[in-house]
Amino acid sequence: MIQDIAPKIMYNQFRKREETVPVPEDTVFCFEGNKILCARNEDGELYFPSFREAEESGIGERDVQYLFAIDTHRYYLYKDYGKHRKERLEGESPIPGYGYEIYRILRELLPKTECFAAVTAYHLYVWYRNSRFCGRCGTRTVHSKTERAMVCNACGNIIYPRISPAVIVGVIRGDTILVTRYAHRAVRTHALIAGFTEIGETLEETVQREVMEEVGLHVHNIRYFASQPWGFESDILAGFYCDADPDEEIRLDMDELDRAKFISRDEITDEPSDLSLTATMIMNFKKGNV
Ligand SMILES: [Zn+2]
Repeated sequence: MIQDIAPKIMYNQFRKREETVPVPEDTVFCFEGNKILCARNEDGELYFPSFREAEESGIGERDVQYLFAIDTHRYYLYKDYGKHRKERLEGESPIPGYGYEIYRILRELLPKTECFAAVTAYHLYVWYRNSRFCGRCGTRTVHSKTERAMVCNACGNIIYPRISPAVIVGVIRGDTILVTRYAHRAVRTHALIAGFTEIGETLEETVQREVMEEVGLHVHNIRYFASQPWGFESDILAGFYCDADPDEEIRLDMDELDRAKFISRDEITDEPSDLSLTATMIMNFKKGNV
């Protein structure tokens, strides 16, 4: 899955500003809406600007926010939003030799370490960009000096990074698994039932509710499989398998799905990517581990 970068390790704990002065080799991520600044080498592989290149384009230490390190390599965010946004046309690159591409291309990014770094950076970018003002009193916030949080000095409100819990559900019936396809979406590969946890709900209740809402089935024997950070949508995904009653009929929510059916292990063709929890769960079922 996207976070499986061993033997490398991501160190994402907060570090104080004086401990994180950037050096020329560090990576600087730049985002504009849902686009990321990158370039491609002769093999078509994506790469990102270094702090040296950022500095040469007039971006200074105060313009970047330390995000995390993978082993000893450090990653920063160019704070190119709000009052920090420099005068530029929309879509115009702040660093020569690089251009903006839609962030979904990160799914094809190799090595996986860089993919995980860029998607996690995007999650943090969305949160930093959206937390510039206090939601309680409207005052401009400042970064906490002791933890990863934005603080309102007027009313004391503390805004922590937003992570939305959601579930991915492998519904099993006998020797088959329920796969779905989303309506109105370009992605045409197999999907599983999925949805966000509501306030006041356990993860297991989310599983039961989402399966009922999307396909009208009762499920039981809900068992946890694995979790996955998914910065594309600011999520933490929790994967569960569960069993459907034997003879209930699927009632499809046509607003969300255009297809749902139980398929056997033999009907599953190899998923092209091992990046997502969904693909991992489908392949885990195919291998007979469920
Ligand atoms: Zn406030």
